[in-house]
Parts: sequence; structure tokens; C-alpha cells
Amino acid sequence: MSKVNRDEIINILDDYDKENITIATLGSHTSLHILKGAKEEGFRTAVVCEKGREVPYKRFNVADEYIMVDKFKDIVNEDVQSQLKDLNSIVVPHGSFVAYAGLDKIENDFYVPMFGNRDILRWESERDLERKLMIESGIRIPNKYKDPEEIDRTVMVKFPGARGGKGYFVASSTEEFHEKIDSMLKRNWIEPEDVKNAHIEEYVSGCNYCIHFFYSALKDEVEVLGMDSRFESNIDGLCRIPAKDQLDIGLDPSYVITGNHPVVMRESLLPQVFDIGDNLVEAAKTLVSPGMNGPFCLQTLCTDDLEIVVFEMSARTDGGSNTFMHASAYSYLMFGEFMSMGRRIAREIKNAINDDKLDVIIT
Ligand code: ADP
Repeated sequence: MSKVNRDEIINILDDYDKENITIATLGSHTSLHILKGAKEEGFRTAVVCEKGREVPYKRFNVADEYIMVDKFKDIVNEDVQSQLKDLNSIVVPHGSFVAYAGLDKIENDFYVPMFGNRDILRWESERDLERKLMIESGIRIPNKYKDPEEIDRTVMVKFPGARGGKGYFVASSTEEFHEKIDSMLKRNWIEPEDVKNAHIEEYVSGCNYCIHFFYSALKDEVEVLGMDSRFESNIDGLCRIPAKDQLDIGLDPSYVITGNHPVVMRESLLPQVFDIGDNLVEAAKTLVSPGMNGPFCLQTLCTDDLEIVVFEMSARTDGGSNTFMHASAYSYLMFGEFMSMGRRIAREIKNAINDDKLDVIIT
């Protein structure tokens, strides 16, 4: 449970002029379409912007108000929170907001009303909690190996913290695991204390689909708004080199995300997609009340048995939603109009204001 007093947030929200709400976010990650979408729905917008990073917001003209800060993390400073409050702001969280503000601050000190369930942000950030939620949902995730001695097939080895896959590796036996750990340590790609925290999971051979869902708490309905796939360096570059030359080059793979491209799935896979989204939403309702609220994304691999395996979850807008700042094939099917994830969030806020239900979607 968050330690920011919910009553205090609801009081602040009650005092807001509902005709004059500002949608605000930190200027990074997915802020362009969050702000653009808010404007399209008729809201005033504010960006909390690190000095020197204002160019995209000015050139794309998505922000009405600029709150300039020396460092992104200053968004939690009292003076910034007070300016946000004075603007009647509802803050939309995204990956950079969580990374820079920090979970502790968001849970304990950040009193500005936020869209979504702030308690669920810890569940997507900590691997054990994330796994618990996914197991509880009954969705297919990669099998986990408790001990390197158990490795009996190809596995993917990951380390704690967001590091863009640097130091992650693939191994097919216990011996190879230890050899690669030694090599990563020698290169300082991982620290000695990382070794005991190595997360070993089944390597899933398949195609990557990152599915962008929106759960409307107002309608109790899961929507599929878009899908993307990732460009990752240097693994994508390595795959363009013939196998015999790959060995000569001696490069270690890394999985640093450099971009995203929109994709669609075979239509016959879509029932699976909706089932996965529905199941996750149901499990979240009991594990981290009130559950999902707004955007969430599942990073998946689809095997040649046409099974969708989920290896990662975000419980807020994911960077891949930038592939549909206007519309995706799916958001068009859902709405029949241009609909980005940012606009969908603003639409939910607008509907909540009209129905006097802001307290359902704000924490
Ligand atoms: P991070 O969260 O640090 O970016 P991810 O868990 O997203 O790390 O993994 C990075 C990349 O590694 C993924 O985008 C995917 O290409 C690959 N990957 C992750 N897990 C698996 C797996 N179980 N099997 C195969 N490839 C995987």
C-alpha cells in the first residue's frame, strides 16, 4: 500500500476545478503522445522538462505549460509538486517517470493526483512480484531455473535492474553458464554480487510481439490498442552476419533497445491475446487492489506452436506505444478514429470527469 495518504490525494482532487484540468507528465519516454492526446481531448497540458530537453515539446507544440527542472528527478521536489497542484494537474506516469522519480518517492512523497494505480508500479519493477502476478494469472511465462546446476536446455540469463540487456546471455549447459559468468565478470559487465541474483529462464525461440493493452476501470473492459516489435542492438546486427562469420567476430550479444516498429499478429492469435490480457487484469484485482488501471504492456515471444509466451510486463505506458502516436490497426478497429495510447488515457480522464468518477481512476 502506498504511504501517501489517499484521502489527501482525493481532497486535492476534490478541490480541483474540473473544467480546468491539466494533464501533466515528465518530458521523456512517451510524453509526446501523452501530451498530444490530452490536447486532442481538450485538456491543457504541462511538461516537467529537464533544462536543455525542451526542443521536441516546443517543435511539436504539445505543451501549454513548461515546468523547467535541473534534473528529471526534481519532479518530486515540493516546489514542482506545488506548481503541478496549482495547475489542477493529473500526472500520467511512464517508464522514465518511474525511473527518475523513484518508487519510494512515488509511494511516499508524491501527492499530486496520478492516473492509474500507483501501487502496481512496484509490481512491474521487481522481478519476483512481476512473476507472482503473471503466475497468478495463469498465463504462459518462461520456466525459471532455481540453480545453474539444473540447466538442461538453452536458457536466457538476466541480471537485476534495467540495463538494456547488457550482460544478459544465452547458455545451454551448466558449464557454459559458469564460463560466461566468468567472462562477464572479467569485462565488468556484471558485478560479483550480481551472480547470486542471476535470473535463469527457459530461452524461448520465437517472434517478438509487445502488446499494448488498456484496461478501462470505468467500463471494466480490456482493450488491445497496438502492438510493436523491438530493434535491439547488437543482437539484430549479429543476426545479419552469417553463422560462420559470427564465430570469427567473437562479439557477445546485447539487447539494448534502439527503436520499435509497429506489427500486427495473425488474426487467429487474437483470442489468445485477449485471454492473456483478461487473465492478468483479473489476477491484479486481487493481488494489488484495485488492479490494473489504464495502459499495460506485455512483451511476448510467439513460438512456432503458436503459443504466446510472456517474458516481461509493464503496468503503465510502454515505450513501444510510440509506434502509434496517431493510430494502430487495432486502435482503429476499437475506435474508428485516430487513437493513441496518450489520447486513450485522456479520453478515460474525460469520461471520468463527465461521470463524476475521477476517484476510480486516480491514485
Ligand atoms: P530488459 O527488461 O532488461 O530490457 P528483457 O527481459 O526485456 O530485458 O529482455 C531483453 C531482450 O532479451 C528481449 O527483448 C528479448 O529479445 C530477449 N529475451 C528476453 N527474455 C527472453 C527469453 N526468455 N527467451 C528468449 N529471448 C528473451
